[in-house]
Amino acid sequence: MEEKYNPRQVELKWQKFWSERGLHKTGQNPANKDFYCLEMFPYPSGEIHMGHVRNYSIGDVIARYKRMRGYNVLHPMGWDAFGLPAENAAIKHNVHPSEWTYKNIETMKKQLDRLGLSYDWDREVTTCAPEYYRWNQWFFLKMFERDLAYRKFSYVNWCPSCATVLANEQVIDEKCWRCDETVTQKKLEQWFFRITSYAEELLTACDELSGWPERVVLMQKNWIGKGEGVEVDFPIPGISENLRIFTTRPDTLFGVTFMCIAPEHPLAKKLIRDETKLDTIKAKYGKETEKIGLLTDYHATNPLNGDRVPIYVANFVLMEYGTGAIMSVPAHDQRDFEFAKTYDLPVKVVIVPEGNTPHVPPLVKEGSGKMLEEAYEDEGILVDSGQFTGRKSDAAKKEIIHFIEETGTGKAVVNFRLRDWGISRQRYWGTPIPVIYCDTCGTVPVPEKDLPVVLPEDVSVSGKGDSPLLSSGRFFHTECPKCLGKARRETDTMDTFVDSSWYFLRYCFPRGERDLPSDFRKPDSGSGRWMPVDQYIGGVEHAVLHLLYSRFFTRVIRDLGLITISEPFRNLLTQGMVIKDGAKMSKSKGNVVDPKYLIEKYGADTSRLFSLFAAPPEKDLDWSDKGVEGAYRFLNRLWGIVQRNRSEIRNAQPGIGSIADLQPAAAGLYRKTHQTIKKVTMDIEREYHFNTAIAALMELVNEISSFAHESEEDRAVFRFAIEHLLLLLSPFSPHIAEELWEETGNQPGIFEKGWPGWDEDAAKEETIELVVQVNGKLRSKIMMAAGTPDDEIKRLALEDPKIQEITGGKQMKKVIVVRGKLVNIVTG
Ligand SMILES: [Zn+2]
Ligand SMILES: [Zn+2]
Repeated sequence: MEEKYNPRQVELKWQKFWSERGLHKTGQNPANKDFYCLEMFPYPSGEIHMGHVRNYSIGDVIARYKRMRGYNVLHPMGWDAFGLPAENAAIKHNVHPSEWTYKNIETMKKQLDRLGLSYDWDREVTTCAPEYYRWNQWFFLKMFERDLAYRKFSYVNWCPSCATVLANEQVIDEKCWRCDETVTQKKLEQWFFRITSYAEELLTACDELSGWPERVVLMQKNWIGKGEGVEVDFPIPGISENLRIFTTRPDTLFGVTFMCIAPEHPLAKKLIRDETKLDTIKAKYGKETEKIGLLTDYHATNPLNGDRVPIYVANFVLMEYGTGAIMSVPAHDQRDFEFAKTYDLPVKVVIVPEGNTPHVPPLVKEGSGKMLEEAYEDEGILVDSGQFTGRKSDAAKKEIIHFIEETGTGKAVVNFRLRDWGISRQRYWGTPIPVIYCDTCGTVPVPEKDLPVVLPEDVSVSGKGDSPLLSSGRFFHTECPKCLGKARRETDTMDTFVDSSWYFLRYCFPRGERDLPSDFRKPDSGSGRWMPVDQYIGGVEHAVLHLLYSRFFTRVIRDLGLITISEPFRNLLTQGMVIKDGAKMSKSKGNVVDPKYLIEKYGADTSRLFSLFAAPPEKDLDWSDKGVEGAYRFLNRLWGIVQRNRSEIRNAQPGIGSIADLQPAAAGLYRKTHQTIKKVTMDIEREYHFNTAIAALMELVNEISSFAHESEEDRAVFRFAIEHLLLLLSPFSPHIAEELWEETGNQPGIFEKGWPGWDEDAAKEETIELVVQVNGKLRSKIMMAAGTPDDEIKRLALEDPKIQEITGGKQMKKVIVVRGKLVNIVTG
């Protein structure tokens, strides 16, 4: 009697079995090699989505495969548990962020377990737990000691009506998400990590990231953005000061028609005396969408050609970048071009495309000249550039820098686009910054022995007012560690990116309250053993900041003498998005498929198989109901084959002799099985091509189902094929593989069986020899794979050199193929 496939029953049974067996515990056998497989940890929003299912299924295949290959595997999971949504939930539902977060973690953990993911929960990391974030604070103190953490004024989004700081994601179309008030900019003193000290090293080391996707490496490089350029001083007649600018395009210096400075540039107050006017610019500070400028009464003199150009205070010039002032070359920079159009400023062409020198009027006044529709930003040949006219951009850059240095008007400098990392957040649900302010002693770091600075529970989160931590009097009012006088705690918390910048190191040690630095320093420490991560897997949306901050933290921890590596992730896989109806699945688009429903209806094995089969991991996955049905049908089919033939398989003799002794049909299936082992192994090893590996398994199932197993020998081959199919399927759809493994009479525990190898000889296509006749006379013999189609046999026969010698130039009347025997060519 055939039993129906009941995924839920099968899956719960084996999840319990694995857990009791401790199958997913971190491998400790010193004789084995180690493998650290890591997926980016989720934010505990309360529900897993299809992107998680995909990300974690990919990681799970790798972890299970490596375990079967005999590696000690570290495959942990945790929670990126601090952050804004918990505070929003607190405001909306009046539930404490901590309660909300831990409840979500519980729910999501169950969902991940239901998917059969092979995590070692003994290593679980929860970033909102004091035992975790105390080390954020410890790293902060170490960085403060080394001047890698410092405080300075910087701008934040400010809602005047709620009187609160807003995170970028709380600003919607420049308005407050709660009250719709227009958001302004407010200057606050905030903490920064000096990531720029590592800019050069972070950039150079990009070239060693050979296990990363090229485009991610490029994104890292662009973000760091090394610019080799020049600083030039533009004198301002009327005040005895120079306006210093930085440019990577000294070849365009002759095209400067105005200058722009940041509103908080030291000169701004001198050039604009009316402070209220300055404030209007500051309110729009850093807004990319709206570019506004305020004309000052002053001019700057271009030191190269003596041009007098107006100076603007502009909202899009950042004080943090370069010198806080820019030269504007509207003909060769699109942003400047648009600004020039808005304010009716001259556009002066000084570069023309190489090899194509159209007549360009040197000065195009907006409205009068039709020559430029947009800025020409590429390099080319200099025109209207004094002594440098006619030079190519490359050469001109060098010569102009030389000229500037010679004449003492500036100097060559290296500049980075990368800014220091602002870590202060005026939020509750994050790591308290371990600093105390004392009127007598100033800024005093919390002594290490007083860590962790625990986040107080008695805080009301309203989304209004200043930093929520101010509302906890017990937290805010404290004693100065130096003079024991009255003092105040820092009330800002850390950016949650701090939490995720080193969590992969925390997994290397078992969970619990420990002295992490001394764990790090042990000769056979967990971090020494497991780092760097062998395979990191996550979304490409984290390809810039999270990875860069992790690379930075790893280097800081290295320089503290705690680890020896510099790069945290040896291999990186960025999986594509899950798409439905042409768009990324998202609540706002209403095209979300809830994995819960999918798992309930089809089971974890089908959900996993579908998400792995529908596309290669790095490509976008297009959701299709048909695809899910197809994966489900495949597993049902396999289930049926095993159920129907259970007793034949159980009673079949194990082991096969030589392929040469098998009957053709049995030899065919035996060969196909070896070929499939080889193909699946290679597909996993090379770039994790799970989709083609699964396709090969489907092909093998086709062959198995059409194989008539009548003899003793046939049944042995049949059993061999089924057992190997289950082994190969087990990383993808582990529960059904375990169940059918047991059904076929094996001891439970397919994952302890080891990954199968293949026999290269048995995997080889069978070759046959064919006799080639010309007009009935034997002329040659050719070799080919068995099963080669007739057309191909004809082609091979005609192209045989010996045959060509005879038939060369003659008309062929007929080519007759007698399958498995001969080819007869009849010439005319
Ligand atoms: Zn508001
Ligand atoms: Zn003091």
